[in-house]
Amino acid sequence: MDTIKQVAKIISSACRGVAFTGAGISAASGISTYRDTGGLWDRYGSEGILNVLNKHPDKAHEILGDFFCRLEKARPNPAHLALAQLEKMGHLAAVITQNVDNLHREAGNKSVYELHGNMYRLCCMTCGKKQGLKRGDLWEMVRPVLKSSDTFSLEALIKAFRPCECSGMTRPDFVSFGEAVQDLSGAKNAAKTCDVMLVVGTSGVVYPAAALPAIAKTSGACLIEINWKASELTSLCDLSIRAQAVDALPQILKYLKPAKNT
Ligand SMILES: [Zn+2]
Repeated sequence: MDTIKQVAKIISSACRGVAFTGAGISAASGISTYRDTGGLWDRYGSEGILNVLNKHPDKAHEILGDFFCRLEKARPNPAHLALAQLEKMGHLAAVITQNVDNLHREAGNKSVYELHGNMYRLCCMTCGKKQGLKRGDLWEMVRPVLKSSDTFSLEALIKAFRPCECSGMTRPDFVSFGEAVQDLSGAKNAAKTCDVMLVVGTSGVVYPAAALPAIAKTSGACLIEINWKASELTSLCDLSIRAQAVDALPQILKYLKPAKNT
């Protein structure tokens, strides 16, 4: 049987599906993955964007301009939309993502664990209160800093973000290298309680996120990888679809009907 049909059958007979997604799912939305050729990692090493900016202030306008521009232009692609549809149809209980681009929520998924945070949310550095941002808000705030001819400083960038109600300074609510991930207990619980996990577009090398498929597997879930190339997680998975998520997920969806209990 062809793998797509086989996967659709597994999803359809499962009680609790969960998707675990990485940068690969957003590649077709124009957000380059960190590790692939041309990605931030490839160009600037493994230190994390804040360290890179500190070390190369001369390149900051270019790096951030590129980053925010891509983020702003990105829209949910057919892979995000297929996952939202799977949730609506009762086949997906949650999405656990390592992406900060807000595209799962924008596509319509309601239950989303964002391990590395969300760029479309500001977090107050004084009281911790979070405020959501609309598309366009972020770019409007950072654009003057990036267009300015002054030497780049992180301080100027931070000052550009809208202050909190308490007048504390804010920053985008993403998890930088070395910081604790968000939503981890909810994500672990989703991994533990699912009976099928779709592992989509992730290289499986960033911990603790990369440990979640193993948690699902140990708890008895069937693991299905969707990735155009083999990853660190391939050997753990029961099945692998070697294709881009943007091609594979809409195809799987075609073979599925709404779950009986919805
Ligand atoms: Zn505050």
